[in-house]
Amino acid sequence: MSSILLPWTDIKSYRAEIGPGVGRPPRPVGCLRCPGKRIWYDGWRRVFSVLIGDEGRVERVDEGVPLQRVACATCWTSWTLWPSFLHPARQFGPDVNEAAALAYLSDARATYVEVGSRYGCSWTSVWRWVGWLGRLAAPEEILAAILRTAGDSPALDFVPREVPQDHEKAYSPERAAILLRAYRTLVLIGLWARALWVPPSDPSSLRWFLWTQRRGPRGPQGQREARSPAFHIDRRGPPDA
Ligand SMILES: [Zn+2]
Repeated sequence: MSSILLPWTDIKSYRAEIGPGVGRPPRPVGCLRCPGKRIWYDGWRRVFSVLIGDEGRVERVDEGVPLQRVACATCWTSWTLWPSFLHPARQFGPDVNEAAALAYLSDARATYVEVGSRYGCSWTSVWRWVGWLGRLAAPEEILAAILRTAGDSPALDFVPREVPQDHEKAYSPERAAILLRAYRTLVLIGLWARALWVPPSDPSSLRWFLWTQRRGPRGPQGQREARSPAFHIDRRGPPDA
C-alpha cells in the first residue's frame, strides 16, 4: 500500500528521484488505520541507517536517505514511506519480528495496535515487519527446500491458504498478497527448521533462516554477535514483478 508499491528497488534511482526539492514517492491510496482515502504529504525524515545495497553489500549513507512522511486527512495518522531497499534500523531482533508478525497474521482478531503493545513496539513497526517478511523470500522455494530435505514432510498441508481476519487487514490487493506471503513464509521457515535432521538450536526459526541465507566468507558460523546481523535479501520489490 505504501512502501511495497514504490517502484524503486535500488538505492541509486531512489536517491536520484526522491527527496526535498527533487521528487516525491506516489501518494498511498489509503490510510493504514482507517478507511480514509485522502492522504497528504507531511514533510520528510532522514535516516542515517546502514543500508543493504546492491548485491547485499552494506552501505552507509552519510547524508541520510530522505523518507517522505504522509498523513491521513481523516484520522491524522501519519507514517513514513519506506522504499523497499531500505532495511529499517533493527532495534528489535528477528525473534521479536517473527513472534509479532505471526501473532498478527495467524489470529483473525489481531490488530497492529494490539500486537504492537503486546510486543513493546509501535504498531507501524509491526506493519513494516509484515511487509518486510512478505518480500523476504519466495514461499514456494522454501517449500521446495523442505521437500528436498524431507520428502515425506506434510509441509504442503500446513501452507496457509489465507490470512484469517474478522476485519479487513489490507486495504489493497497488493498488500493482501504481501500478508499472505508473509504468513506462508513464516510458517514454512518454521516447518523447514523442524524438517532438518539436526534441528537448529536457535529457538527463532526466522533468525536461523536469516543466518542461513547469509552469503560470503563469514557465514552462519563465522560470526557471533548479539545484535541481529546484516543479511542478504534475495527478493526485493513487488512480489510478482
Ligand atoms: Zn486514517
